[in-house]
Amino acid sequence: MLIKYMKVAFIYNDIYRNSVFGKNHPITDKRISNVYDLAKIINFKNVIYHESSIASVEQLSLFHEKDYINALYEAEKKQEVSLEKQKKYNIGTISNPIFPEMYKRHAIATGSLLLGADLIINNTYNYIFSPGSGAHHGKKNKASGFCYFNDIATCILYLKKNNIKKIVYFDMDAHYGDGVMEYFKSRTDILTISIHQNNLWPRTGDYFYGDNAISIPVEEGFGDTEFKDVFEKRIEVKIKNFKPEIAILQMGADCLLDDHMSKLCLTNNSMRYTIKKFKGLLKKIIVLGGGGYNPWVTLRAWIYNLATLANENSKLSLNSEAKNFLKNITWKNNPKQNWIERITDLPNIFGDQ
Ligand SMILES: [Zn+2]
Repeated sequence: MLIKYMKVAFIYNDIYRNSVFGKNHPITDKRISNVYDLAKIINFKNVIYHESSIASVEQLSLFHEKDYINALYEAEKKQEVSLEKQKKYNIGTISNPIFPEMYKRHAIATGSLLLGADLIINNTYNYIFSPGSGAHHGKKNKASGFCYFNDIATCILYLKKNNIKKIVYFDMDAHYGDGVMEYFKSRTDILTISIHQNNLWPRTGDYFYGDNAISIPVEEGFGDTEFKDVFEKRIEVKIKNFKPEIAILQMGADCLLDDHMSKLCLTNNSMRYTIKKFKGLLKKIIVLGGGGYNPWVTLRAWIYNLATLANENSKLSLNSEAKNFLKNITWKNNPKQNWIERITDLPNIFGDQ
């Protein structure tokens, strides 16, 4: 089969368009369908769209326990949960509420990533983009931090089942990627890396720096210069030595300046820098979403990631339709002018981008 070397498979499902966690929940409406819609308006030439389907119970069971899968299914169906199950599975809480697509949405996020895994295993693509996936806090038997099914852990186990020998997982989200990191950190065939704000929930991301697992808590105010330094001096060499076949990048946009959930001060250029670095290090890359609670900051970062993966930075000079799309997004706060006029943040300390 011909490999679409330069092409990116954008994995999407329209369930994200009308599914909401709840009125006051930090997960903003349309955060994933916005990425799809704006990508279509920008009209990337190297991006091909694939519709994902829902992961089966068998697929979800690669990582999750059957009784938990069943509890989520039942909670969605009944739109309620007993106190006992609420406690046991951490669902029906303020963070992980009952809502109409609570099972479907997250099983589809997993299905998306498994489709991406198939497309990369079969050599149909080298680059996968699945912004609806990235639920790095999910545990095998409970929900955590807005994450119901851990699509990432499930995907890693699926790749392993399909004879991929070595996988690197890199987590840029402001929060420690505990659901993935803690599960895989003792394995020698998976290199997991999380850079996160040191005093943030879930507060379990203590410093460690091994050959197969790296957790680097950073201070408030951590910005592009510090990020570049950490990546070049501490991360890059570990990935080179590890020689992974596939990289999975969790690009939670809550690590960026102007996301109120963290006090990290990265620009979206640091994400482009990261993707470019990984493109130089290995052939097959899966780019995910993750956290990201300011709708404009998140959307622009993920569009920038897609453009970087597709090697189509030239497309980022926005036409009036694209600017209007950004302008028409509504949220509790008004956007800054540059959020509705351009994709890339300034300044860019990374030089030629
Ligand atoms: Zn986060």
